[in-house]
Amino acid sequence: MTRTLFTNVRIFDGHGTAPFPGEVLVEGNRITSLAKGAEHLDATGAEIVDGGGNVLMPGMALCHCHLTFPVAVDRKPKGGETFLQRRMPVEKQTLIAAHNAKVVMDYGFTSAYSAGGATYSLEANLRDEINEGWIPGPRLIAAGTESVNDANDPGVRQSDSVAAVRAYIEKTAQAGADSVKFILSGPGFQVHEDNLPMYADEQLAEAQKVALEKNVWLTGHARPTVAIKQALKYGFRVLYHADQLDEEALDMMEARNSEIFVGPTLAWSIEKFEHPRWSKEDRDFAESQLENYKNNIDRMRARGVRVMPDGDYGFAIIPHGENARDLEGFVKYMGRDAADVLMSVTKWGGELMGMGSELGLVKEGHLADLLLINGDPTQNISLLRDAANFLMVMKDGQYHKKPEDLAHAARRAAE
Ligand SMILES: [Zn+2]
Repeated sequence: MTRTLFTNVRIFDGHGTAPFPGEVLVEGNRITSLAKGAEHLDATGAEIVDGGGNVLMPGMALCHCHLTFPVAVDRKPKGGETFLQRRMPVEKQTLIAAHNAKVVMDYGFTSAYSAGGATYSLEANLRDEINEGWIPGPRLIAAGTESVNDANDPGVRQSDSVAAVRAYIEKTAQAGADSVKFILSGPGFQVHEDNLPMYADEQLAEAQKVALEKNVWLTGHARPTVAIKQALKYGFRVLYHADQLDEEALDMMEARNSEIFVGPTLAWSIEKFEHPRWSKEDRDFAESQLENYKNNIDRMRARGVRVMPDGDYGFAIIPHGENARDLEGFVKYMGRDAADVLMSVTKWGGELMGMGSELGLVKEGHLADLLLINGDPTQNISLLRDAANFLMVMKDGQYHKKPEDLAHAARRAAE
């Protein structure tokens, strides 16, 4: 069993408190020992990594990831491809998703909760390849096709029968997916056209029943109050956007706050607010949306709801790899403390993956998903936007990125 000892690090342990000096021992795929302050751990037989006083923290989780969305920081095909992924051959979508799985790892996201795939089985197969160690990628909660998908692998529509809802979930579970993504509101995705419920209560009651039988989680895209309340009533575990909240919706959230996660998804609003390419009208609208999200996040957090950054990366203007823009946005525009945002993507990230007892913290017994950051992200969260600031990325005790430079520096210092 490999033993690795991280010395001379400041540890952000995932709880949201300030980093403290210490040492961490990894044996196999687990963290087995933690020392605080001047205390030292037994280094016998261990490879020693001198962290150079940098911050060691848990791997982060994406809460709203579409690995089949085509654009990444290092893959920007000419002519766009943006949402045309829905019309691409499955072979191409699969290659793209495998590439994106590596990209998010380069940026420290060692876990990802899918917000919908392109087909029923693509992500389940990708997850298995990753888990068997053949290709790099995060721990993945795989989704099937999205309920409203006009591509080659359609889901289920409002006009379909209750039996069709059952068949959709059964087919998704059969394909090996972990979760089923419903587009609960629409008919379009733009805010102004996304305000009608897409499913009847009988359909969603059936969805809840079948999801329990088949042991899959329900994930819902829900902007208007009526769709948010349906998601909360029918056992959905993860809700996206949640734009329009009233007191009753907040009461319903609070009643299920130990079960649910909410991802408001700021990326498009941040991009339109910040980038000069957009019109004043776009910018003003984005600003009003950010204000609405801030207000909603404050109210949800006051009710004990786990609200997480991230969402819908994979377009030319918000490519995979830039996901930390959402974390930065939570600090800049949502008024959250950086350490609190980091807590949400680590501690809550482990809980989101259904692995809270062994994932998301730097803690004895936890799985060794660890990052070494060049600097202190609790002081400057924007550090996480640059892959070069990830000095080391480890998942399940295996290096995705080895801390080579530090090892050299440590060896040179010893000579
Ligand atoms: Zn999405």
